[in-house]
Amino acid sequence: MQRTEWDVIIVGGGSAGLSAALMLGRSRRRVLVVDGSEPRNRFSAHMHGVLGHDHSSPLDLLAAGRAELTRYHDVAVESGTVASASPLDTDDIGFEVVLESGERHTARRMLLATGLRDELPDIPGLTEQWGRNAALCPYCDGWEVRDRRIAVIATDATNAHQAQLMRQLSPHVTFYTQGVNLPDAARVGLEARGIAIESRTVVEVVGDETGDLRGIRLDDGTEDEADSIFVAPRPVPNDRLLRQLRARTIRQNGVDWVLVDASGRTNVPGLWAAGNIATAQSSVPVAMAAGNLAGSGINADLVEEDIREAIAAAQRDDG
Ligand SMILES: Cc1cc2nc3c(=O)[nH]c(=O)nc-3n(C[C@H](O)[C@H](O)[C@H](O)COP(=O)(O)OP(=O)(O)OC[C@H]3O[C@@H](n4cnc5c(N)ncnc54)[C@H](O)[C@@H]3O)c2cc1C
Repeated sequence: MQRTEWDVIIVGGGSAGLSAALMLGRSRRRVLVVDGSEPRNRFSAHMHGVLGHDHSSPLDLLAAGRAELTRYHDVAVESGTVASASPLDTDDIGFEVVLESGERHTARRMLLATGLRDELPDIPGLTEQWGRNAALCPYCDGWEVRDRRIAVIATDATNAHQAQLMRQLSPHVTFYTQGVNLPDAARVGLEARGIAIESRTVVEVVGDETGDLRGIRLDDGTEDEADSIFVAPRPVPNDRLLRQLRARTIRQNGVDWVLVDASGRTNVPGLWAAGNIATAQSSVPVAMAAGNLAGSGINADLVEEDIREAIAAAQRDDG
């Protein structure tokens, strides 16, 4: 078998990637993590719902994870972006990656933990508030705005559920339909819980002189005051490398998600995917768990290969 430089290359050093690196480092595997340092929640000063780290900085968590990995001498974490990945040109399972810098690395296995990008509704001023006063997840950012004036801006009818979750936290919720056709059951439910339904179109999110949120401008020029906005961006997996490697996907709600088993194994031999790249339903703890499972799954797969090679070597010696 060709000697690769690394046992495992992990692309993406967010919660999923670093968690996998920890498991593999503890298994004495030679691991390279390449990370572009743009975790999905980098726009937020605080993260929530992460046991032991509630209301702490998401970037501090990742910095602590990187620091912990320095205990494991065969793990290297490098800043950079992987531009391409291809299977090794041999009979062995393995991969070669090329970084944007031109650097090349080979490994026996690869984990993609590259996360996703949030494509926000095209409303001027919304991007500036993202992660500050505009959010997606009631569990991550809802409690901080309890009892405040909440604007839920729809992209489709399922946002009515988001409005109902926010109603759990505040009696002052307005649901902006943005022309979405609301099923009767959703409308009745919103009205029953005192959620205002606004059918005029939101044309702008308005900030104050400090850049904080002031309100929401409607198409007739009216400005509604709001303390917080909730929207549902379209999730766009960072899956360029998965596509290059032709990993199988499944279409759900208009998005192609990589097909993985419970440990994150894809249909491409030797290739795993974990965290937000594989599902929109990921929080930091869920991404960590997925990385943890992928790390142990990859190590078990390598152990199987090591056994096969040891047997083949013993047979060669006997022969
Ligand atoms: C505004 C906001 C607030 C949130 N708040 C919370 C919260 O309070 N609590 C919570 O639990 N969850 C929260 N989340 C969700 C959380 O961000 C994700 O669940 C989590 O980041 C997923 O981890 P991940 O490792 O899969 O991906 P990420 O954390 O996104 O990490 C992916 C990493 O891969 C890197 N990468 C991508 N492509 C490449 C490449 N080609 N080469 C090298 N590196 C690459 C990126 O730069 C990035 O560093 C929030 C999300 C958003 C958008």
